[in-house]
Amino acid sequence: MSQLRKGNRALIKDMNRSLVINTIRKFGPLSRTDISNRTGLGLSTITKIIDELSQNKLVFETGSANSTGGRRAILLEFNHQSGHAIGAKIMKDHLVIALTDLDSTILDTLEISFQNKEDVPHIIDLIISNTKKLLTQHHLTEENLEGVGIAVSGLIDNQKGTVVRSSLLNWEDVNLSEPIQQALGTPVFIDNDVNAYTYAEIEKGYGVTHENFICLSIGDGIGASLVINRKLYSGEFGGAGEFGHTVIHMDGRPCHCGQHGCLEMYASNKAFELEASSLIDQYPNTSLNLESIQFDHVLEAAQQEDSLAQKLFERQGDYLGVGLVNAINSFNPGTIVLIGEGMIAKEFFLPNAMDRAKRNFFNFANCDTDIVVSSLGNDAWVKGAALLAIDQLFQPPIYETTVSLLS
Ligand SMILES: [Zn+2]
Repeated sequence: MSQLRKGNRALIKDMNRSLVINTIRKFGPLSRTDISNRTGLGLSTITKIIDELSQNKLVFETGSANSTGGRRAILLEFNHQSGHAIGAKIMKDHLVIALTDLDSTILDTLEISFQNKEDVPHIIDLIISNTKKLLTQHHLTEENLEGVGIAVSGLIDNQKGTVVRSSLLNWEDVNLSEPIQQALGTPVFIDNDVNAYTYAEIEKGYGVTHENFICLSIGDGIGASLVINRKLYSGEFGGAGEFGHTVIHMDGRPCHCGQHGCLEMYASNKAFELEASSLIDQYPNTSLNLESIQFDHVLEAAQQEDSLAQKLFERQGDYLGVGLVNAINSFNPGTIVLIGEGMIAKEFFLPNAMDRAKRNFFNFANCDTDIVVSSLGNDAWVKGAALLAIDQLFQPPIYETTVSLLS
C-alpha cells in the first residue's frame, strides 16, 4: 500500500492546486470567481495557483463572460495540449496503440499484428517502438509524454504493473510496466481491458451523468466492472468483475479458469462451438456444418437467416440474461452498460437477454434497472487505457508515490 504524505503546508498547497486544476478540467471554462464558488478557496489563493498553472502552460485564458458586477470576467480553460499520453490494448493477435492529448482525445492510432502471443519480449518491443514512431510522426519526443496506459484481458496487479494471469494471452506473472517504463522514461500503468473501457465510460460516456453503474462486456470472454460514486471498485486482488467466472451450472462445462459451469462457457462467443455440437443434429440444413465454428461464422450465418445460427444467439441471450439477473441482484446498480466486441451481433441475442434480465428480484418489487448499450465507439478501449495514465497525473497528491503533473 502507498505511504501517505505528512500533513504540512506543502501538502495543503499541493491539494489546493490539484483541486483547482481538476475543477477547471471538469467544469471549465470558468472564471476565478466560479472556481472559488466551486472549491470554497479564497480568490487570493486561486489567483496564486492560476499564475503558477499558467506559467506551466497547464491553463490558459480563453475569453471572458459577463460577471454579476458588470465587469467582464476572464475565463480559464485547461490546456489539453500541455502533454500527451499513450493508450494501448493488447489482443490475442494484434495490438492497438493510440497517441492522445490530456483530454484523451485520440490524435493517431496504429494497429500492429503479431504471430506469437506468448512472445512477451516481442510484444513489449512493439509497444516501445510504436510509441516512439507515433511521437516522431507528431514531432514529439519522450519528454512530451506524460504516461502510458495499457489494457490487457485478465487478472492484473495494477500496483506492481503485472499481468497476474491472462488466459487470452496465456500469460502468467508478466511484468509489463517495468521494461516499458525503463525504455521510455515515463510512468506506465496497466489494468484489465474492461476496467480501461470503464474509465472512458466514466469520463466520456455514461459516467458524465450517472454515478453508479456496471459495465458488462460480451465477447470472447465475459467481464464486468463496478462503478461506485464514479470510482472503479478493484477488489482485493484487482480482480473485481470476473463476472464470466460466476458459476451458473453446478458441474457444468469445464472452464479454462479451473472451475466448472462458468457463465463464460455458455454466454461468450467462445461458447458457440460447444453449444452447436449439442444442437446441430436438429438442423440438417445449417451452413454451420464446419470443423470449427467461430463467432464470425455464426454471425454471417445468422444474417443469412440460418436457423441454427439464430438459435445459438438466442441461447447466448438467454444465458446472458441469467448473468444480468445475477449482476442486478448482487449489486443493485442503477444501470448496466453493455460493451464489447460481441455487441456487433446485438440484434440477434439482446431481445432474449433483455427479456430474461427483466425477471430479477428488484423488478418483481417494481424497481427497474436500466440496461443500455454503450454509446462509445471501439476506440474507447485505447482512450480508456490512456486515461489510466492521465488520471494518475491529476490525483490529489496525498501519497509519497503519486506521479503528478502538478508538483
Ligand atoms: Zn471460469
